[in-house]
Formats: sequence, C-alpha cells, structure tokens
Amino acid sequence: MTLSEENYYGEEANRMFFSVSQYKDFAKCEAMALAKIRGEYKRPMTRALLVGSFVDSYFEGTLPQFMQENPELFTRKNELKSEFRKANEIIGRVSSDPMFMRFMSGEKQKIMTFEMFGVLWKMKMDSFLDGTCITDLKIVANFRTLPLWRYDLQGAVYQKGVELVTGETLPFYLAVATKERVTDLDIFQIPQSTLDMALREIEERIGHYAEVKHGFAPPKYCGECDYCKSIKRAAIRNYNELLEM
Ligand SMILES: [Zn+2]
Repeated sequence: MTLSEENYYGEEANRMFFSVSQYKDFAKCEAMALAKIRGEYKRPMTRALLVGSFVDSYFEGTLPQFMQENPELFTRKNELKSEFRKANEIIGRVSSDPMFMRFMSGEKQKIMTFEMFGVLWKMKMDSFLDGTCITDLKIVANFRTLPLWRYDLQGAVYQKGVELVTGETLPFYLAVATKERVTDLDIFQIPQSTLDMALREIEERIGHYAEVKHGFAPPKYCGECDYCKSIKRAAIRNYNELLEM
C-alpha cells in the first residue's frame, strides 16, 4: 500500500501501519487505541487540534483550501473565531523570524513508510530538509508543558525512519511557538541520548502492542479515559473511596 495525502489517515493505513500517535494511543489505553483502529471510536476534533492544523496548512501552502473545508473556523458573522485570529497572529510572528523559517523551509508533510522492530510504520514530517534535519512544528500553550507531550517518541521514530529510508541520521528539532498573549518562539533540539532512550522504550513495548492490534492478545482497559467511560457500566461503589483520591 502506497500512502498519499488522501489515504494517510484512512482506516486501511491505520490498520496496516503503526504511527507515533497510534503508539501513544496504545501506551495510554490499549482498548481505546484498538477501538480507534476499528473505527468504533473517534477522538473529537478539539479547537486546539484545529489551531495546529490551521498553522500546518499555512506552511503547506493550503490555508485557503483548509479555510474553505472547515466552516467551523468562522463565526455566524463570517469572521474568524478568536483562536484562529490568534493562529494568524502566530503565523505572522514566526514568518518574520529568519531562524524559524529556515527550519521550516524543508519539504512539507513528507510521508515515509518503513519497517522497524518487526512492524510497519508510517510518518509525515512537517519539514524535511534532506541531508540536514527533521523539524516538527508545534503550536503550544507555553514552553513549560512541552515535554509532557512526549515529543521524544516522535523524534525517535522520525529520526530512525529517515535513517532506514535514506541511510542518513539527522537531528530532530521542534519549531515551537506559543499561544501566550505575546507569542514566544524557539527551536528546541531533542538531545540524541533522549531520542535513543525513547527508541528503546518503543522497542520494548511495540511487540505487545502489535499482538493486541492484530487480535493475538486482549487489550487492557485503563478504566479512566473517555473511551473507557463511554462503554462502562455503572457499578455500586463506596462513597468514601472518593475521599482517598
Ligand atoms: Zn481507557
């Protein structure tokens, strides 16, 4: 199966390939990850996700089309909603920064597929500068919470993927801009030792996730995520257990 812009996020591609976000889904809740792959559960598109896609589409050169396809960007008066006016402001800010733009000057939304740790992977890079570096664009609330999103996992897979496809080991960067009242912006390199550690973590877990994905092992239910809540049955519980939380 050859992946393109059209089928990259499709059900068939998600069944055949692992991706960083699917791996993270499994790490969070195996049952939720599996339900997503089977098309039984969709994560709702939040405004925050949509802001990310808005800025991605600008760099890809497809913002006009993106705005046409997403009427929810606009108010009933046909004005951009405040989050997307903010997104426009962030775009203006990062566009005027030469360093930021240099990192974002690679091939956009570059898709690669490869085999790693016995499973097939797909990935889509925000900016791929052949022979130089891999950069992912992040629009975040602030810098402080950046590591919570485990972008080291993404960096590890992207770096190894490029290496397997092209033979080159490239550094991985995050081009980050914040949604703060005054936008902050910097380029963060994820150190090689951190990427190596993240890759080892993936190597240890992916075999089990692949078994669950293909029905050879039952999924674990975390019991706490939105998916688990959506399918649970009510139980009788002791009121006082809530006091211990
Ligand atoms: Zn769950």
